[in-house]
Amino acid sequence: MPDFSIKIRFFGNLNDFLSAKKRYKPCITPVGGHQTVKDILESVGIPHAEVNVIRVNRCCVSFSHKPGADDRVEIFPLKYQFKSGQVLPLLPQLPAQPRFLLDEHLGKLAKLMRMCGIDTRLFHGKTDRELADMASRMKRIVLTRDVELLKRKNIKRGYWIRNQDPERQLNEVFNRFDLFDKINPFFRCMLCNGLIKMVSKKTVAARLPFRTRAFFNEYYRCNSCGKIYWKGSHFIKMEKRIGKLVRTGKALKKTSGDFGATG
Ligand SMILES: [Zn+2]
Repeated sequence: MPDFSIKIRFFGNLNDFLSAKKRYKPCITPVGGHQTVKDILESVGIPHAEVNVIRVNRCCVSFSHKPGADDRVEIFPLKYQFKSGQVLPLLPQLPAQPRFLLDEHLGKLAKLMRMCGIDTRLFHGKTDRELADMASRMKRIVLTRDVELLKRKNIKRGYWIRNQDPERQLNEVFNRFDLFDKINPFFRCMLCNGLIKMVSKKTVAARLPFRTRAFFNEYYRCNSCGKIYWKGSHFIKMEKRIGKLVRTGKALKKTSGDFGATG
């Protein structure tokens, strides 16, 4: 049985988790006196891993805060731009070189991220618990299309991928985590995330198709799985895709209405 009501409002792209009629406006929510903000967030379907600032009556609080009757609760995502005043971010600071762990349904996105040189592991285990433990142990950011997965306690940093198309997903991730200045093609193997290094033609000649051997002299090999790469037509396609990503990303940044402003 609820003990009282609070007024709760979600900002920016946290509204993506709400039904259309509840978006972008304060909502009167019945709660129990024992419930923390984290409990309330999860009961309305918002994973804590996407929440960066919580304010109760305009004061910043933590996830363990228990709101009281008639409190005004405001929940903000990462990158929300506040007009003024100090805020207390709850998400850990992003490392200089963010590393990712993707759930197994995001295989195409994993390949595209590796193509851009981003450290990206794809989870091949069985349970959500294993994935969460692995992310915690390896300090990797979880990317998933499964909201429930992001509600697991030991996932400190994660993001729910909104789009279904892999190219759009890539754009989403690059904007969310500011990865545009970290693009480094021909650095990671698209198949396994291993590092690729230049090797002499002589070393790999026996494994090359005849026409490739005749036309190309520069070769790279994955240190982990041994896949051989060269700058053929697939490389030109890759450069085009990366160019498009950067152009679209810059355009999105200019026009993004995702991150509003509040005092
Ligand atoms: Zn490899």
